Amino acid sequence: MKALLYRGARRVELATVEQPAITDPADAIVQISTTNICGSDLHMYEGRTDVADRTILGHENMGVVTEVGSGVMHRRVGDRVSVPFNIACGTCRNCEAGWTSYCLRTNPTEGMDGAAYGYASMGPYAGGQAEYLRVPYADFNLLALPPGTGHEADFAMLSDVFPTGYHATELAQVGPGDRVAVFGAGPVGLMAAHSAYLRGASRVYVVDKEPDRLRLAAEIDAVPIDLSQGDPVEQIMDATGGAGADKGVEAVGYQAHDATGQEHPALALDNLVRVVRSAGAIGVVGVYLPQEPGGVDEAARQGRIGWDYGTFFAKGLRMGSGQAPVKRYNRQLRDMIVAGRSRPGWIVSHELPLAAGPDAYERFDRREDGWTKVLLHPAA
Ligand code: NAD
Ligand code: ZN
Ligand code: ZN
Repeated sequence: MKALLYRGARRVELATVEQPAITDPADAIVQISTTNICGSDLHMYEGRTDVADRTILGHENMGVVTEVGSGVMHRRVGDRVSVPFNIACGTCRNCEAGWTSYCLRTNPTEGMDGAAYGYASMGPYAGGQAEYLRVPYADFNLLALPPGTGHEADFAMLSDVFPTGYHATELAQVGPGDRVAVFGAGPVGLMAAHSAYLRGASRVYVVDKEPDRLRLAAEIDAVPIDLSQGDPVEQIMDATGGAGADKGVEAVGYQAHDATGQEHPALALDNLVRVVRSAGAIGVVGVYLPQEPGGVDEAARQGRIGWDYGTFFAKGLRMGSGQAPVKRYNRQLRDMIVAGRSRPGWIVSHELPLAAGPDAYERFDRREDGWTKVLLHPAA
């Protein structure tokens, strides 16, 4: 089958590889109809991780079941499914508590809980930027979708960015009437802004400096805050009559940069600590592994950054963080889409065949104007 392989920093290659087979009775094989490129893939693409050469990339997958293991009871050949990026067993202590992103059983890497497809340090699993994908614990992990091809781009958001954005608002405890500041207008930040409104926020402010992304924020009635036009915290303070935000979301990660393009790993976090009012809360879903391209050292792996914990403490803020447990939200969000109350596919900018993948990685990584979310269709 055809697949996109990681071949070193800034090298993604379309190659022919062996098709995956069932290796455990709980497995299923899914023929991929849509697989997305994610901001998280860029950490690997830029050579900032120790992902192995020839790894098949892709953790945002959906498609149709073509084969099931003898132990699979509820998923059938022909089912249209969304595949959460987390690979979870369903029965360990964390999975039972709803934390499928920290499954204790699926990642054999020492000191790492939680697994994903095609991702450095997240276990030995092939990704889905390919024609077929092996899904472990298929009964537990696969979410059924309505048959057919309707809402494909909307449902494609269910494997990661929509539940992740929603999780950020859950971590920040966004409730009715809240003013919410979202840092980062990438796919995750835009989904967090959309989720904040689903949860009843009165006003959402979205900070970035990419004009195309700020336009997408404005399309859902969020207030775009352009950080290249001045301190984003002051802009939000002005817009709220000095009150600031009640809740905040960090959807940038360690690659936060200032208006001049200089990287400052703690910049978005520090701005959130400034802009969220005392006794408020912040949800952090941006990834922190501050590594220079080409190097993975132990200090970097720990993600040590200097941030303003003193002000965070003085204001009595709360914070939640980490990988999103997709399964906790994806059924509800699917049903919002089916009912016509949510159209997360509004952020999709490109739908391309798999062969366009290497070029798409390059353009998406350069944040070329208009490249917000890329969907690849392996059967096209
Ligand atoms: P992205 O890179 O497309 O978006 C990040 C955005 O932040 C960009 O538009 C960038 O211009 C903007 N930005 C940079 N510096 C900024 C600053 N100082 N202030 C405000 N905005 C700034 O990535 P994405 O796909 O939207 O993902 C966002 C983050 O979430 C990444 O770190 C990604 O790895 C992470 N992520 C986490 C999870 C999870 O489960 N926790 C899941 C998916 C992605
Ligand atoms: Zn992703
Ligand atoms: Zn588990």
